[in-house]
Amino acid sequence: MIITLKRKSTKQEEMRVIEKIKKLGYVPHISKGVDITIIGMIGEFAEKYKESFESMEEVDHISEIEKPYKLASREFKKENTVIKLPYGIEIGGNRVPVIAGPCAIESKAVLLEIGKIVKDAGGTILRGGAFKPRSSPYTFQGLGEKGLKYMQYVGEKLEMPTISEVMSVEQVPLLSQYCDILQIGARNVQNYDLLKACGKQRKPVLLKRGMSSTIKEWLLSAEYILSQGNYNVMLCERGIRTFETATRFTLDLNAIPVVKKLTHLPVLSDPSHGIGIREHVATMAKGCLAVGSDAIALEVHPRPEEALSDGPQSLLPEQYKKLMSELKVLAKALGREI
Ligand code: PEP
Ligand code: MN
Repeated sequence: MIITLKRKSTKQEEMRVIEKIKKLGYVPHISKGVDITIIGMIGEFAEKYKESFESMEEVDHISEIEKPYKLASREFKKENTVIKLPYGIEIGGNRVPVIAGPCAIESKAVLLEIGKIVKDAGGTILRGGAFKPRSSPYTFQGLGEKGLKYMQYVGEKLEMPTISEVMSVEQVPLLSQYCDILQIGARNVQNYDLLKACGKQRKPVLLKRGMSSTIKEWLLSAEYILSQGNYNVMLCERGIRTFETATRFTLDLNAIPVVKKLTHLPVLSDPSHGIGIREHVATMAKGCLAVGSDAIALEVHPRPEEALSDGPQSLLPEQYKKLMSELKVLAKALGREI
């Protein structure tokens, strides 16, 4: 349930409610508006304490969240969540940052080469996997910690926040040490132990949509992270499985406006994995921007034929540069900025 405090409540009043929630064995989740503070008391049987909170002087009213996901819902927080990253980059505001880089970190030199291409054309966040969830165990699995070190080096050198995928609970401390955003991939969206572990650390988390997740299941996965006290969660549509085989996945652009209505969390798109065909990635990226994505993730490689993973969907530098200039014009027409 949601406990709405009286307008302009003081810190002491807030603390009295928080202490009472803790005493009852629940974790309080606080959301502060301009002059209204609401506190989520979420968990089984929380409603049975409704009356005892209603009678508190500090409390204005109590309401229920009907959706199964609570902290992720717009009922819990009306304003959009804006995630703050190093170098003044934000996700969830008016600007639509472009996250770009190789699928996998291949070497320090190639990562730096790609990072420069990404940054020069206006991309602001560097992506690259060090632990790769490959369909086949016989293909490149990633450079592991060595790759993360390269990522940190290039990110610092180019002054770009970095993102990389975390595949298991044991990898969480490593990823949070080296990267600015932890990515949970489509294949791990229902790995609840991993979701909880990412919720216990404090780096922002990008949660991809599972290839067969419904929107409700996806938001419930986000709820796992939020429930552990990490509120810096962003969602990323990356295509779902349908009967169609002409494209790698079916990028569900419907999901962007629908999810943005249901949640205050930023909603991003990944057209590279969504369509999986280099020639069409730029077209779909413009579609992603047009439907309201809060950031766009792209794979870029100067020699895709040599790429150790996802070469066929990686944009060539020239395609990426052209796309960036088109996205800038389109963003302006939509009242946003890249
Ligand atoms: C990736 O971003 O490289 C990746 C593996 O993505 P997904 O989990 O969406 O397949
Ligand atoms: Mn990839």
